[in-house]
Amino acid sequence: MKTLTLALAALSLAIPATAQAQRYDSRYGLEPGAHDEIAWDFLEGLTTEIGPRLAGTPEEAAARAWAMDWLRAHGFQNVVNEPFPIQTWVRGEERGHITGPFPQNVVLTALGFSGATPPEGLTGEVVYFENIDALRAVPDGSLAGKIVYLGHAMRATQDGSHYGYFGQPRRQGPGIAAQKGAAAIIIRSVGSDNDRVAHTGATSWPAGVAPIPAAALSNPDADQLERIFERTDGPVTMDLLLTPRHLGETMSGNVTAEIIGRDPSLPPVLLACHLDSWDNSTGAIDDASGCAIAATAALRVAEQGQPLRTIRVLFAGAEETGLWGSAAYSAAHADEEMGVGLESDFGAGLIWRLETNFSQSNPLLFQRLSEAVTPYGVVPAPQLVATGGADLNIMRDQGGPIIDLQQDGTRYFDLHHTPNDTLDKVDPMELAQNVAVWTAVVQVLANEPGDIAGPGIVAGE
Ligand SMILES: [Zn+2]
Repeated sequence: MKTLTLALAALSLAIPATAQAQRYDSRYGLEPGAHDEIAWDFLEGLTTEIGPRLAGTPEEAAARAWAMDWLRAHGFQNVVNEPFPIQTWVRGEERGHITGPFPQNVVLTALGFSGATPPEGLTGEVVYFENIDALRAVPDGSLAGKIVYLGHAMRATQDGSHYGYFGQPRRQGPGIAAQKGAAAIIIRSVGSDNDRVAHTGATSWPAGVAPIPAAALSNPDADQLERIFERTDGPVTMDLLLTPRHLGETMSGNVTAEIIGRDPSLPPVLLACHLDSWDNSTGAIDDASGCAIAATAALRVAEQGQPLRTIRVLFAGAEETGLWGSAAYSAAHADEEMGVGLESDFGAGLIWRLETNFSQSNPLLFQRLSEAVTPYGVVPAPQLVATGGADLNIMRDQGGPIIDLQQDGTRYFDLHHTPNDTLDKVDPMELAQNVAVWTAVVQVLANEPGDIAGPGIVAGE
């Protein structure tokens, strides 16, 4: 054994270090070992010193205070908190146990805005629906007393596009199950992993429909439950305990800060992310990374000299529980024209594609942006129309220019809204590539004297 180990050690030493370094370098478009210390400082600091920061809670308020201190300490000006009210929900106890035919515990977690079971839990027969259309098809009132199990099969995709379609069971499934009279609903986690952790996330209830207990099973437990259904003709039964609470109205807030431009009369460049996270993790990828990327890019541009336009960062509050911050920001700033908006809220995976909604109306600017990002392995996609993310309501409401710097999301939904969304999942090199691409793009935008959209903008949806 020892001989073998020594032989392997000799072999690995024989690979020239430069060959490894070059492969790495070409992948990232950066110096080997690149590490953005400012972005990492934000990411590590927020996730370590604050940790989870559920919307509307004292932890989210602490995150705002922490972020405002950090922004001031790094030279941002006009650092402000814009408070707004939200409806706040907090998790309680959560347990699930299959009572028959093959008794065993399952791993599950309450969905945001889930109703509560009685304090002693509830027991019921589980009714299996393969997808949301099958659930929609049954008559109202036909599921009285039953626990709905809603399966579906989200897969990993590079652009994360499965989240739209396969997220429906979480967003709409509980409301439909409640309308059908169900006592509770469990869904397969909206996630692409096979870890034994469940994915939370907000659900919503149609007007007039009372919330029922609603939880997500980990994917391995969903597989297990489906196998149990295959092996029995008799009833599958389950105990469920969920004790979340509605706290009613509490306050959240949007934190904004600026690098003041040489000509503050020009509409600002808006860099958005969200500061809140789910309560079950430190939200390293969702979305501490996004705020680290946006704020650091602004600072890296400022390092190159005062930009022409003001750069404003928006750390939105209460994104996860209903996009409250984005709506509040758009309402509060409806009369203030924004020059262009970008958002980072998809982890810290490598940026691979540049999209705008002005490639046709301002092709010269699109060309300059393309030249700025191609050194980092980013593909310009002039045929695609950027629509922005959850925190860019203001740009869509104004019909303004939007840029999407698309990240590789192949593994994002393995971690999304789970306890596994922690600092160790962020690759410092990938984070540095994000900052480098954002810096290159914001440098162009913040020094653009003319109308960024050009004439004839294609508005985002
Ligand atoms: Zn997010």
